Amino acid sequence: MYDYLIVGAGLFGSVFAYEANKRGKRCLVIDKRDHIAGNIYTEDVGDIQVHRYGAHIFHTSNKEIWDYVNQFATFNHYINSPVAVYKEELYNLPFNMNTFSKMWGVHTPKEAKAKIQSQIDQLNISTPKNLEEQALSLVGTDVYEKLIKGYTEKQWGRDCTELPAFIIKRLPLRFTFDNNYFNDPYQGIPKGGYTAIIEKMLEGIEVQTSTDYFELIKEKPALAKKIVFTGMIDEYFAYQLGELQYRSLRFETEDLPEENYQGNAVVNYTQREIPYTRIIEHKHFDFGKQDHTVITREYPSEWEKGSEPYYPINDERNNTLYEKYHALAQKEQNVIFGGRLGQYRYYDMDKVIAAALEAVKEEFSEDHVFG
Ligand code: FAD
Ligand code: UDP
Repeated sequence: MYDYLIVGAGLFGSVFAYEANKRGKRCLVIDKRDHIAGNIYTEDVGDIQVHRYGAHIFHTSNKEIWDYVNQFATFNHYINSPVAVYKEELYNLPFNMNTFSKMWGVHTPKEAKAKIQSQIDQLNISTPKNLEEQALSLVGTDVYEKLIKGYTEKQWGRDCTELPAFIIKRLPLRFTFDNNYFNDPYQGIPKGGYTAIIEKMLEGIEVQTSTDYFELIKEKPALAKKIVFTGMIDEYFAYQLGELQYRSLRFETEDLPEENYQGNAVVNYTQREIPYTRIIEHKHFDFGKQDHTVITREYPSEWEKGSEPYYPINDERNNTLYEKYHALAQKEQNVIFGGRLGQYRYYDMDKVIAAALEAVKEEFSEDHVFG
């Protein structure tokens, strides 16, 4: 019998497995996919690290998490600075003085603020109730119409008035000429890719890929004393309270015989009519000089059973339903639910590591888990 059966070889499951193994526990890690690393899986294509499940940039403001992840990899100095394409126009992201000067010809922060304020004044929004009102009351009408509305509606498949305000607050808004997509002081891409991080975490631990939990547990119900479950929490409970909603994606990848396709790692297409949200050119994450290039178009789609649930949709309806599943989860004494799907949260990688270390701390009744 294993001490822990860890369902999901993604970041949450792997951090937990690494820490449990370090404490002498016997773990089995399984994943229904045919590879480890979950959504941070990268693979080598002609010497280019391809992010199979979309662009992954590690960023954090937590020094302890940064030190923790640096045990497993050396990070480069990549700073994410996406470009947005709207019709024939190109803009820098996130919303900053470069964006505003291109949009309105303004030169100073004072002029940019005045322009935004003049648009906000016409709107009469007191407390923003949804993503549309939040975006409008931060950046005004022009930026919303050109850079947010179309992108957001195709990304989420919902009207901006039906989406929670917090989603747009992920993006910085600043009045300096600074195209860094994140405010966090620590940022980079691991040299050699993310899969190598997970391989290191899982060194010396039994791993079975192409193994679905629900099938395995039917055959071997007494396989482990405890389960760490990082799949969909509603699926774990056989959808007994109803289905949570997720957003799925389709990735279309091409290996092109040219050196430089778009000149940047991430280019967003903010027009509603273009079916993909962004094109990733993987070599630019690592300043690659190869004589070919690999690009990936990201097409959002509604999740249905059998497709991959990439994003939880944390609106009121889903959060309320999640709370009910969470209450059920708390009664499952020998199961720890974790990660983006197990906790139904729009977590970035640093937050997933923090949540996994928190689970370790609780599980092993320790005050401190770093180092
Ligand atoms: P996952 O990686 O999803 O791992 C869960 C694993 O469980 C999966 O491999 C799945 O196959 C397996 N599983 C599920 N059910 C079962 C079952 N029944 N049996 C067996 N196995 C099962 N974060 C950042 O910090 N920076 C970024 O730039 C960034 N970009 C992103 C871009 C995209 C397109 C997406 C979707 C996410 C992005 N993220 C980013 C978030 C990041 O991917 C997550 O925070 C992280 O990968 C979540 O790890 P996890 O272990 O919770 O989940
Ligand atoms: N967003 C937007 N325009 C863009 C990029 C992002 O309106 O060009 C909005 C969109 O609603 C998106 C959210 O900002 O879902 C968060 O963007 P982020 O890049 O953090 O999304 P992720 O990488 O998690 O998909």
